[in-house]
Amino acid sequence: MERGATEMRAALVTAKGGPEVIEVADQPIPEPGPGQLLVKVAAGGVNFIDIYQREGVYPMEYPFVPGNEGAGTVEAVGEGVTTFGPGDRVGWSGTLGSFREYHLVPADRAVAVPEDVDLETAAAALLQGMTAHFLVHGTFPLGPGHRCLIHAGAGGVGLLLTQMAKMLGAEVATTVGSPEKAELSRAAGADLVIDYTQSDFAAEIEAAWGPRPLDVVYDGVGASTFEKGLTLLKKRGMMVTFGNASGVVPPVAPLELMRNGSLFLTRPMLYDYVAERADLERRASDVFRWIAAGDLQVRIGGRYTLDQVAQAQVDLASRKTTGKLIVVL
Ligand code: NDP
Repeated sequence: MERGATEMRAALVTAKGGPEVIEVADQPIPEPGPGQLLVKVAAGGVNFIDIYQREGVYPMEYPFVPGNEGAGTVEAVGEGVTTFGPGDRVGWSGTLGSFREYHLVPADRAVAVPEDVDLETAAAALLQGMTAHFLVHGTFPLGPGHRCLIHAGAGGVGLLLTQMAKMLGAEVATTVGSPEKAELSRAAGADLVIDYTQSDFAAEIEAAWGPRPLDVVYDGVGASTFEKGLTLLKKRGMMVTFGNASGVVPPVAPLELMRNGSLFLTRPMLYDYVAERADLERRASDVFRWIAAGDLQVRIGGRYTLDQVAQAQVDLASRKTTGKLIVVL
């Protein structure tokens, strides 16, 4: 069936379930409401949250259009929008529904993409870049003399987090799942890289840096790494559990934190660190500025079409990918 000019293609998660619940459907191109931008999407970023939402780890109403971030060009603006106009290049994160040809983005959640950053890179960098930014500047502000551990160091967040931790002068240990990933993590600046599929990362870290050497663990892997991470922290160190790639971390007794040396435990979420417009702009503009200056490398590890959204999620969950996956519209 031929589509009319008022219709667009959209990925659709039809029900809670595996990748097979994702389809591509025709939908009407929406009109921007008050405060909204209608954006012609250039690319959307693939994130682990897409999988949690499809599987129901994070509760959702079905069907829904997946995709939590992207970048594109403003086509039209709704009533009351003065900050952006048609032709402006914008990026967004946390606005569900990005994997479609035209997306509605609240103007107060959009950020300007500078001329010297292309839209695919913007879509690849925004959510994970701002996540890395808040983790090392907000949750546990890193500096010279700190030692940190970053799990999944060759992943989308991991590569950016490693580079930002090095910019701040910290020593960085990473875990990775293959020799190829180890190379990428070293190239991002990691000082100590451990293939945790081959050896015990806790033993390796203590062999290199001594007992309990870490000020902070940034753990996006979750169930399979969390407990061991607690045993590597200095007294009053911080465990930052920010993701569940291997499964959700089970409940922790507060006494465990005491036994391991009066530790701090936090489970942060990007949206609480960019809820204020000023924070959103500051984090996004730092990320874009570092990319434009060549100080932050964004590795696009895979490009997919709208028809391949399910495949992108399968690949991300399979541990075979490195860097960032994007859907190009
Ligand atoms: P990655 O590109 O890092 O992919 C996940 C990686 O986790 C895999 O490549 C793999 O790397 C590692 N891993 C270890 N065990 C498993 C497993 N059992 N199944 C799948 N992967 C596993 O993903 P992202 O960069 O998109 O996200 C990283 C984490 O950050 C996720 O948990 C995500 O939810 C979280 N996140 C949290 C945010 C927040 O606001 N709190 C915001 C953005 C992301 P390896 O092979 O090297 O082990």
